[in-house]
Amino acid sequence: MSNLKIRDVRVITTEPDGIRLVIVKVETNEPELYGVGCATFTQRPTAVVAAVDDYLRPFLIGKDPADIEDVWQSSYVSSYWRNGPVLNNALSGVDQALWDIKGKLANMPVYDLLGGKARDAAAVYVHSSGRDPQEVEDKARAFIEDGHHYIRVQTETPGYATYGTHGAHPDVGLQTGPRVVTDRVEDADPDTLYAHPAGIFEPRPYMKSAVALFDHMRSTIGWDIELLHDVHERIPPIMGVELAKEVEGHRLFFLEDLFAPEDNDYFRIVRQQTSTPLAMGELYNNPHEIVPMIKDRLIDFIRVHISQIGGLTPARKLAALCEAFNVRTAWHGPGDTSPVGHAANLMLDLNCWNFGIQEYAIFGERTKEVFPGCPEVRDGYMWPNGQPGLGIDVDEGLAAKYPFRERAYGGAWGAVRRADGGVVRP
Ligand SMILES: [Mg+2]
Repeated sequence: MSNLKIRDVRVITTEPDGIRLVIVKVETNEPELYGVGCATFTQRPTAVVAAVDDYLRPFLIGKDPADIEDVWQSSYVSSYWRNGPVLNNALSGVDQALWDIKGKLANMPVYDLLGGKARDAAAVYVHSSGRDPQEVEDKARAFIEDGHHYIRVQTETPGYATYGTHGAHPDVGLQTGPRVVTDRVEDADPDTLYAHPAGIFEPRPYMKSAVALFDHMRSTIGWDIELLHDVHERIPPIMGVELAKEVEGHRLFFLEDLFAPEDNDYFRIVRQQTSTPLAMGELYNNPHEIVPMIKDRLIDFIRVHISQIGGLTPARKLAALCEAFNVRTAWHGPGDTSPVGHAANLMLDLNCWNFGIQEYAIFGERTKEVFPGCPEVRDGYMWPNGQPGLGIDVDEGLAAKYPFRERAYGGAWGAVRRADGGVVRP
């Protein structure tokens, strides 16, 4: 029993570069001893703020911050209903902050608390997205110049909306189907939204453009660079089986989110038909969704978003489960994982033997200023800074200069639809 107590639990919200970030700061009764954790659920950030302020804060004040496991377990069941993204992200903010505090107390980086490093740095993959294969190739070549070896490639499908190409023309897809898209979210000023482009999506043209992109990349860039691709769950499952088989010869590093979590059992089908490596998991937030995928070796890479499952405490256990079945980690790391979340990812990347790859979003300059100690990437690897805890902080004064902007409909994602008007997941 230490005399250390949680004095306060506060939420810091900030949007330095157009993405709403939520950070939890746990303060102790020892002056200057605090920790930070990522609680970013950028599509519903204020719901997470309420979950922390109204429920976790009063529940945790006065508790011993050393007892991370007890805090996690008791908080997890304190709502009785559990495993949703709002509550899991709120819990992650507290959990990562407690690991940060423990590291500062021990004067060790968190990867040392976890058992030490299994590698010196974490290989990252970056995103090359373009209007056509040539633009994707040009961007990929620039990344290769910078020392990158793993590149996710996404191209637009002419005339349709496609995932992962943020430069999509505003009118893409809207003229294609019989249905005129008039959802108000989609008509909103795009500058007020952080959302994927809405529009019309059809699986067959998408599949054709994706395969043409892989053909282009292999015939121009060659075979020495690892290529990755995200299907984003948009195509009917049996067409996903077809796509995974068709691209086997392109030797992707992985094909991501071939099916939606609701279609998990399709992995049993595709697994018997192709050796295309499969990555899955950013939408998982419940152990029931995850455990069968690991123990039955249905995927090659677990893509869980660490704050989405409740923080480092459940993620390190999941990583250990994956090690037993030789499933590698590929923690979700887009721009809507805060730099604090990236620092937490890095702790596991360094510690886990079964690390596979780390997704990396290139942070904006303002974001780097708000988060001193923001993980650095050089020559295709993310490197630790060796500081105690997570090795990252939040400049609260600077963070306050970038409050959340007003967004139409709270920043809801625009719906992507089939040509007949039916909604496409997600
Ligand atoms: Mg993804």
